[in-house]
Amino acid sequence: MMENKEELARIITAENGKPLKEAQGEIVYSASFLEWFAEEARRIYGDVIPASAKDRRVLVLKQPVGVAAIITPWNFPSAMITRKVGAALAAGCTVVVKPAEDTPLSALALGELANQAGIPAGVYNVVPCSRQQTAAVGEVLCTDPLVSKISFTGSTATGKILLKHAAGTVKRVSMELGGHAPFIVFDSANVDRAVAGALASKYRNSGQTCVCTNRFLVQKGIHDEFVEKLAKAIEKELHVGNGFDAKTTQGPLINEKAVEKVEKHIKDAVSQGASIVTGGKRHSLGKNFFEPTLLTNVTTKMLCTQEETFGPLAPVIRFDTEAEAVAIANAANVGLAGYFYSQDPAQIWRVAEQLEVGMVGVNEGIISSVECPFGGVKESGLGREGSKYGIDEYLEIKYVCLGGL
Ligand code: ADP
Repeated sequence: MMENKEELARIITAENGKPLKEAQGEIVYSASFLEWFAEEARRIYGDVIPASAKDRRVLVLKQPVGVAAIITPWNFPSAMITRKVGAALAAGCTVVVKPAEDTPLSALALGELANQAGIPAGVYNVVPCSRQQTAAVGEVLCTDPLVSKISFTGSTATGKILLKHAAGTVKRVSMELGGHAPFIVFDSANVDRAVAGALASKYRNSGQTCVCTNRFLVQKGIHDEFVEKLAKAIEKELHVGNGFDAKTTQGPLINEKAVEKVEKHIKDAVSQGASIVTGGKRHSLGKNFFEPTLLTNVTTKMLCTQEETFGPLAPVIRFDTEAEAVAIANAANVGLAGYFYSQDPAQIWRVAEQLEVGMVGVNEGIISSVECPFGGVKESGLGREGSKYGIDEYLEIKYVCLGGL
């Protein structure tokens, strides 16, 4: 098993570029979903409801929804599969996985492990396909009447296409879509902790996770100190390079399109008055490597504060009041994760309740874990993954009325 773990991590680094240490972390995270849901399978309880008529008994059974089509992204080539497949198999469903075209190898490796583990043939199926075939394969998966459930993680734009397809046969859907995570640092924050959280939340996986911070909102009293310390931390602690090199913390971005988006956001911000504190361009290594970047004097008119960058760009907006920060944070049409740093207990409650997101990190920049419900509100999606709630996405509730007793 140890051999498998190491091999799977190397596959992730090879196909996705993330540093091997992060890939090893992903494998542990990935395996945690299989373990968690294997245990949850033993707790799929039905129910007996007191009936209103004497001659009846009311039972509730939980049954698998049926075949689940699972469409996953490239940023966690293994964990995004097991987070869905673990729950689906535990519920009694079979699955057809369509991995991202950039990262099919982890999905296939999981197939080999499923064979080794004795999962019967036909239960875990993988359909990798080229970029050209993706839309057609996706359409078949989302419209075939034999498929009962679609679980998708990816962009909001693609999620909307799949939702439309799924409507034709009224399939069950779970959607984990894009985010635009705010990271608010209030004057009352512990700045050093906030900087450490910012670094982890922004630059993990080179900024390519849907819960990565996409915009920093920093209160005027500590703005300069935060920016100065974050810039220093970026320059000292982040190392761009080959993911197999032990020193590397920042691998390449996934493809040229991803690099172009970061460049476009920086160019737009600078043209509207933002200042580059550090980074700002492609790394000297060339290809898809990009310098971790920090921008200040950012306003809500700039593209980088209006849509997900999905790259190593940290734009900082300065704000005056709590109400202003919450309003900016909630102005997005998506709401996946949100973070804030404060040491004021009343403020912590207020802001945690007001943020329009599915997940809130208070004085923490990394919050995903198998036992916690992962998911978003607004256009960030439908449903929750992981946790005790995740298995419900693959279960139907059947009411049985025993009459004539
Ligand atoms: P990203 O921008 O992060 O690559 P996408 O939403 O394009 O996000 O991709 C996430 C997953 O969705 C990948 O597996 C990709 O192949 C798949 N995908 C993209 N477009 C479609 C589509 N039209 N139909 C079905 N799947 C799609």
